[in-house]
Amino acid sequence: MDRTLLDALRCPAPHADAWLVAVVHAADGPRLLEAELACPACGAAFAVRGGVARFQEPPVPREPAPPPVAGHGHHADRLAALLGVADGPHPVLLVGTRTVAGAALAERVTPPQWWLNPPAPVPAPPADPPLLAAVLHVGVRWPLAPRVVAAVAVDEAHATPEALAEAARVLRPGGRLVAPASAPLPAGVRELVRDDVEWVAEATGPASGLVALRRRHP
Ligand SMILES: [Zn+2]
Repeated sequence: MDRTLLDALRCPAPHADAWLVAVVHAADGPRLLEAELACPACGAAFAVRGGVARFQEPPVPREPAPPPVAGHGHHADRLAALLGVADGPHPVLLVGTRTVAGAALAERVTPPQWWLNPPAPVPAPPADPPLLAAVLHVGVRWPLAPRVVAAVAVDEAHATPEALAEAARVLRPGGRLVAPASAPLPAGVRELVRDDVEWVAEATGPASGLVALRRRHP
């Protein structure tokens, strides 16, 4: 797990946003290999094992996604275009089988990548160009702060209303969400384009006044 991800991690328990405190046992430069993550608000604890941050046990394998019709290169070209992010410091979030395109995507766009729930075995991050992919196994609520990623791509298995709401929550304003055509459009995004395979939507910006009024931070 990329050490810089720590700033963006939040306890996934249903309470006010809380940073996680890390106790590092083993690291390789910027990569955390073995660590414990603890929430000072509720006491929840999570582990980093083998570089993978485990917010829940690895999901039971599902039907593998069909391979891209025209190969990884074409698939990554298309995904890069749909995500609309060429460079910049803000990460791209690939979810489920979308992580399979991560290495090819890294040859085309430079942002860091965070991989949620990659299929087993986890695709190897490429060495050239080097990609410091952060790998997380997550449950229904994603352990990420709001508005931290530049773009999100979700696969069929994560095209649920709950996962798409999380995707919309973690997107920066103007950031794009790519999802299968059958997926419901979550609140907080507007559709840009769709075909019979997938749609692309854009995060519409800061929370509405109504949501702001419900915040209880002093
Ligand atoms: Zn907590």
